[in-house]
Amino acid sequence: MYSNDPDVIIVGAGVAGLTAAIAMARQGMKTILLEQNPQIGLKIRGEVINKIDPLFDMVFGSQLPEELIDNVYEDAHYYSPSCQNVAKRVFKTPKVNINYRSFIEELARIAIKNGVDVILNATVKQLIKKGQEIAGVEFERFGVNYRLEAKLILGADGHGSALRGLAGLPSPKNLQVMLKGMAESVKCNAKRLDFYLLADPPAVLWIFPKSSDRAEVGCTLWSPHAPRQDKEALLETWNKNLKNHPLFSKAMTRARFLYFDFDGLPLGGPQKKHYRSNLFLIGDAAGHVTAVGGSGIISSMTVGTIVGNRFGTILKEAGKISEDDLSQCSATIKQSEIGRKLASERKTAKMMRDILYKVLKTPEEIDASWDKLKGPIEDR
Ligand SMILES: Cc1cc2nc3c(=O)[nH]c(=O)nc-3n(C[C@H](O)[C@H](O)[C@H](O)COP(=O)(O)OP(=O)(O)OC[C@H]3O[C@@H](n4cnc5c(N)ncnc54)[C@H](O)[C@@H]3O)c2cc1C
Repeated sequence: MYSNDPDVIIVGAGVAGLTAAIAMARQGMKTILLEQNPQIGLKIRGEVINKIDPLFDMVFGSQLPEELIDNVYEDAHYYSPSCQNVAKRVFKTPKVNINYRSFIEELARIAIKNGVDVILNATVKQLIKKGQEIAGVEFERFGVNYRLEAKLILGADGHGSALRGLAGLPSPKNLQVMLKGMAESVKCNAKRLDFYLLADPPAVLWIFPKSSDRAEVGCTLWSPHAPRQDKEALLETWNKNLKNHPLFSKAMTRARFLYFDFDGLPLGGPQKKHYRSNLFLIGDAAGHVTAVGGSGIISSMTVGTIVGNRFGTILKEAGKISEDDLSQCSATIKQSEIGRKLASERKTAKMMRDILYKVLKTPEEIDASWDKLKGPIEDR
C-alpha cells in the first residue's frame, strides 16, 4: 500500500503540515501527509486571525474566502483583575473569527487537489535511522505497522511533538495549558474580543464571539508565574471565575457548551534547535506561535509555506537535503518578517508578564500602574 517511498513525509495535518504539504506538492514533490486522527481538524484550536495577510494569496490564490469567516471584530478590551480598569485596543488590521473546521478542510482539499497523499488514522511511532541519519518513519494504522522512507521529514505534529522527542531535540520551555469551549447563550458584544486578566493565579480568561450569543471561551494559566500549571489548577481557576468573576460570570450565567476541552500551546517563542538530519520541525512543534497573544495559525502557515517552497526547490535541483540546507532554512525563517515578529513577541511577552505578575503581583498594584500598562496594550 505504501511501497513507493515519497520525496517528503509530513507528520501532522494541522495548519502547519497542510500548508507545507501544499507548497511541496506545488513544487512537484511526491508528498505523503500522515495524520493520527480519523478526521482533519479534530483538535480544539483558536479561530481568531487577521483578515488580511499576503499568505492567503499564496495558499488560496485569493484573499481569505468569505465563506470561511464567521465573524469580524472591531476592537478588544483587556480588563484589569479588579475590573476597575480597561485597556481598549482598536484593530489596525481587521481581525476575524474563522470556522476552523471549514478552514482546515479547505486546506486539505487544496492539498489533495495538488497531489498530496493524505493518510488518516496513521500514528507515527518511530523514526527510521540509518547510522546517524534519519531516513524515514514507522507508523501504525489499524493495528498494522508500516515503514516509509523519504529524503525529508517535516514534523508538524503539534506542541507535544513525538518526533521532537524521538530525534532528541529540546522541548519548548514555556508550554501553557489551555482550556477552550464553544458556548451558546453567552452574553457578549459580537464585534469585540474580551480578555479578563487574573492575578491569583496569574491567568487570563477570554471571550471570542461568533455572534451576539455564541462564543469561543477559554482560560490560560500564565506559566512560569502560576504556582501550579496543571489541568486541575486550570479547571479550579475556571470554575472559581465562572461563579465569582465580576464580569465573566455575568456573561456566562446562561452559557451551555457544544464542546469543552484542554490543550497546550508553546508561548516561549521559536525553538532555536528544531532540526536534525533530514528532520525539520514546524508550527507548534517548533514554537512558531506569537508569545503575547498565542496566535499560531498564520505564523505556522507562513513558516510551512517558506519551508515547503525552499526544500521543494532544493530537492528538485539537488535531489537531497544536506545539514547545511536545514540550518540555512532555519536561518531564513529567523530573518523573515514572521521570524522577526516571533522573536520580538517573545521579548515583549516576557516583559509584559514579568511586570504584571512578578513586579505588580496584586490587583491593587496592577490598578495603581494601569495608566502605564494600558499604553503598550492599546498601541499593539
Ligand atoms: C485553545 C487554543 C486557542 C488558540 N487560539 C488561537 C487563535 O485564536 N488564533 C491563532 O492564530 N492561534 C490560536 N491558537 C494556536 C493555534 O491553534 C496553533 O498554533 C496552530 O493551530 C498550530 O498548528 P500546527 O499545525 O502546528 O499544530 P496542530 O494543529 O497541533 O496539528 C498537529 C497535528 O499533528 C497530529 N499528530 C500529532 N502527533 C502525531 C503522530 N505521532 N502521528 C501522526 N499525526 C500526529 C495531530 O493529530 C494534529 O492534527 C490556539 C491554540 C489553542 C490550543
